[in-house]
Amino acid sequence: MNIGILGSGQLARMLSIAAQTLGINTICFSPISQDSATQLSQTIHGDYHDQDKLKQLIKQVELITYENENIPTATAKLCLQQSQLYPSYEALKVSQDRLLEKNLFSQLNIPTVKYIAVGTDQELAQAVDEIGTPALLKTRRFGYDGKGQIPINHLQDLEKVRGLNHGEDLILEKYIHFDHELSIIAVRSVDGQIKFYPLSLNYHQNQILRLSIAPFEHPQLQQQAQQYATALLEHLDYVGVLAIEFFLSGDTLIANEFAPRVHNSGHWTLNGAHYSQFENHIRAISKLPIGSTDSIGYNAMINCISSMPDRNEILKVPCTHYHDYQKQVRPGRKLGHINLHVDNKEDFYDLLQQLCQQFGLTQVLETLKI
Ligand code: AMP
Repeated sequence: MNIGILGSGQLARMLSIAAQTLGINTICFSPISQDSATQLSQTIHGDYHDQDKLKQLIKQVELITYENENIPTATAKLCLQQSQLYPSYEALKVSQDRLLEKNLFSQLNIPTVKYIAVGTDQELAQAVDEIGTPALLKTRRFGYDGKGQIPINHLQDLEKVRGLNHGEDLILEKYIHFDHELSIIAVRSVDGQIKFYPLSLNYHQNQILRLSIAPFEHPQLQQQAQQYATALLEHLDYVGVLAIEFFLSGDTLIANEFAPRVHNSGHWTLNGAHYSQFENHIRAISKLPIGSTDSIGYNAMINCISSMPDRNEILKVPCTHYHDYQKQVRPGRKLGHINLHVDNKEDFYDLLQQLCQQFGLTQVLETLKI
């Protein structure tokens, strides 16, 4: 069996490894010639708008999936019309636009941050008046890892963005003073069966995910998050893995965004769950039975950003797993991650401290109150 993957980054790489273990071949489609997944998966190099190249892919695969939500919708539509596309086209379309995404959360009664779409200076001023400060002005599209975010802390900040080419593609959001950031990862099979991984506790630095800890044990919040994920998965007639990121304020989960794909906050599942998010995504879209999403022991994941740490030093810390995406080094780039998987809680916190020391992250554990 051949599966097409639109994209060739680390998510495509880890999906390819999971597929190959199952005896399923992957063919990535990517405009980039040298990338994380191209080293171990067959790849067709081409522009996402190159229909002839896309048809080459379509001819060679039984179904197509995608590793990021910024794939042009026209590309996805062609795949949908001439092959099978999982997750659904609708999921891709909605997740590309923060306004559609938040509208859908609201429609499904999933609490989300207060938001207003803005197109002009006057609309922005009105929106700030309504939402108050602090607020965040975000681009509706192509925003990830904090890209395309401008803080509006005072009314004077409006001067900074005056005349900004709003087009009609900005959204003003209330800034949430959250206690924690959490995410849930769920998988839905072709016949509608849904399984959930336990919640991850996530810490972001400069808006980029730095550390995830799982399971975040809170039965009530777990149930609440599962209910929200179910509503979204069923509405989108979704097949595969989906992640929702939440802010936790008091005991309320507030949805920030969803990702129609495997997610960075689920990388710990490679070493800390019965079946990883990557294997379960491949199983779901290939119409195979999905596997248990139960976690095993206590787990953490630290992202390696801008540089990879010394392998030898990291592996001196017991229970660590080194994952190198073999990407070219660039500042701010996610190059790999380290998983920590420990059977008992006490040892887990000791080893997590040791690992965090290597990354200069010990203060983070205090911030997270763990
Ligand atoms: P995003 O670009 O929406 O994925 O946001 C990246 C990170 O920025 C989030 O994980 C939060 O740490 C922070 N952030 C985004 N939106 C808000 C908000 N409305 N209030 C507070 N923090 C936010």
